[in-house]
Amino acid sequence: MLESLLNPQSVAVVGASTNPTKLGYLILDNIIKYGYQGQIYPINPKAKEILDHTCYPSLTKVPGPVDMAVIVVPAKFVASVMRDCGEKGVGAAIVITAGFRETGAEGRQMEREVLEIAREHGIRIVGPNVLGVINTTNSLNASFAAGMPEKGRISFMSQSGALCTGILDWAAANSLGFANFVSLGNKADMDETDFLEIWHHDSGTDVVIAYLEGIADGPRFMKTAREFTKEKPLIVVKSGTTSAGSRAVSSHTGTLAGSDAAYDTAFKQSGVLRAHSVSELFAYSTAFAYQPLPKGRHVAIITNAGGPGIMATDACEKKGIHLATLAPETVSFLQENLPAAANCFNPIDVLGDAYADRYKLALKAALEDPNVDAAIFLLTPQAMTEIEETARAVVELSRDFDKPVLANFMGAKEVAAGNRILGEGQIPYYGFPEEAAAALARMAEYREWREQSSESLERFSIDQERAATALLTAQKAGRLRLNEMEARQVIAAYGLPLPKSQLALSVEHAVRLAKEIGYPLVMKIISPDILHKSDIGGVKVGIKNEKEVRVAYEEIINRAYRYMADADIWGVAVQEMVKVGKEIILGVTKDPTFGHMLMFGLGGIYVEVLKDVVFRIAPLSRAEAEEMVREIRSFPLLAGARGEKPSDLIAITDCILRISQMVTDFPQIVELDINPLFAYEEGEGTMAVDARIVIGE
Ligand code: ADP
Ligand code: MG
Repeated sequence: MLESLLNPQSVAVVGASTNPTKLGYLILDNIIKYGYQGQIYPINPKAKEILDHTCYPSLTKVPGPVDMAVIVVPAKFVASVMRDCGEKGVGAAIVITAGFRETGAEGRQMEREVLEIAREHGIRIVGPNVLGVINTTNSLNASFAAGMPEKGRISFMSQSGALCTGILDWAAANSLGFANFVSLGNKADMDETDFLEIWHHDSGTDVVIAYLEGIADGPRFMKTAREFTKEKPLIVVKSGTTSAGSRAVSSHTGTLAGSDAAYDTAFKQSGVLRAHSVSELFAYSTAFAYQPLPKGRHVAIITNAGGPGIMATDACEKKGIHLATLAPETVSFLQENLPAAANCFNPIDVLGDAYADRYKLALKAALEDPNVDAAIFLLTPQAMTEIEETARAVVELSRDFDKPVLANFMGAKEVAAGNRILGEGQIPYYGFPEEAAAALARMAEYREWREQSSESLERFSIDQERAATALLTAQKAGRLRLNEMEARQVIAAYGLPLPKSQLALSVEHAVRLAKEIGYPLVMKIISPDILHKSDIGGVKVGIKNEKEVRVAYEEIINRAYRYMADADIWGVAVQEMVKVGKEIILGVTKDPTFGHMLMFGLGGIYVEVLKDVVFRIAPLSRAEAEEMVREIRSFPLLAGARGEKPSDLIAITDCILRISQMVTDFPQIVELDINPLFAYEEGEGTMAVDARIVIGE
């Protein structure tokens, strides 16, 4: 079936037209014009011949087999055409026609019907609502695009057909070629992950770029992308905000997990390079398509002017790319061969009066230097500058080395001819040094990802039974939010330490429990109506004796009723007062696309103000959990700032992993907040002081 899509021996255009302004004409014309070598069958009951090809009244009347059908008939006829496809044994259908899911309920129903028929006959569908599919390897342009890309090793998919045409035009101007070019449209059947699978095994595709508005199946995408990106780079622009779900967000984690956080982290965890704009997409595409990956993060900058050299240096440093320290031999070679005023240390400044030969000498010396992993080549058009000659030299030299070379010829008009030579010679060129630095940084990042070995998931031995019982109790009682005791059961079952705690139902009860647990104590209001207890004065710490227990109990209950007269109050927790540690928040929220998302951060009650949190999609490996801990801005506070001892980072990481295991074991958990988790000094572990858990319906 995929063979029918990628390498069909025959293509029918159903809805082919004699009218040159109609899509049915344009598509047929593209298929013929760009040199497709297989059989071409226009289908239209009202014509005998279109564009010198015999026209058939219906698919079923075509004499030979038909591998692919390109469908451009009105939406209401697509289902019956799909039935003909089934009868005819068509393997793949590209449904160009719009007017399906994107138009509302009726369109959605039609789309479903078309898909059902296709599934019944084992036909794969691209679309509906697409520009089409282009394959340069067999010269098949089954689209209504206004052109044909050059042959190349990038494959592209886009959820926006209009963007496809823009990219085609840009690519044409920048000598960027493609292997496959796919418009995904409504993704009724084939989606981004299907194409990733195809291109993973396609020897003609080295790089995949994608414009996506959403992802059909998050976990499947992540799994496929993880494998894909170990071999080939995948660059994605993701636009549009996801619906965070209609459920009211009541947890800290839910509030902090912006709609985009899930995509960011899912991409990061699966090695996908996210571009934040179409211009970034282009910047990265050429770099990845044209140049080898750098072996490290050390760059040489070659320039003919000081200022741009400094700007490029700053831009590199900002992105974690460092200036290579040139080997002594390189420096002395440059000193012998460049004018006295030149800078022979990195950035190498060949001076404004440099002709192409001086530039060439410097670039060659830099690329030969073992300390150099990559080169950024800067040029400003000055009176003596040989722009085209220099561009040719860069192209030739770069071919001799397995190190990436990225260029920035500053300017526009004067340097245009040079840029054209660079593009044709497969040197990525940029308008500004910052873009070159950013592209190089992504290449280095990607190389590091590829070399990272994938870790297997650990499992802690936990008491799954105990957690299951607590969750079931809440579910049976029709409560989505677990009560204090149930939440503690689940957390304890997964091995996180908790302070001793009991629920008091009266003052006398509180006094008795206080004696059992021992002073000092903490008392807190327990009510499903009160989310943030201290906000309403519902938490009292440092209770030292019976008298204080009595006062605290009355006060807490009174404050709760003052806050909400008809509050459902379950009681007051009498709790062991534990040693204060660094206040950590550990949370879970469920993303509609990717599933459970873990949050880690510092801040305790200030977490919403500081927003110093990071996210990962569960389940996590230990390396990912460790990386999470190190990623927050205030990590130095945990590592031990200002003479403090470091926190117990291993215990913190274990807590993250235990929670990751918990939500994987119990997917019904949709929200979890442990805030705070006290983290103690190295070797002293953690304490989960406050926890809430919400399950799905
Ligand atoms: P809420 O977040 O609903 O206001 P918490 O249970 O988190 O209520 O309590 C508020 C703060 O009180 C915590 O952030 C913590 O600093 C302190 N606290 C709560 N319980 C204890 C305890 N058992 N031992 C020590 N400090 C506690
Ligand atoms: Mg709290």
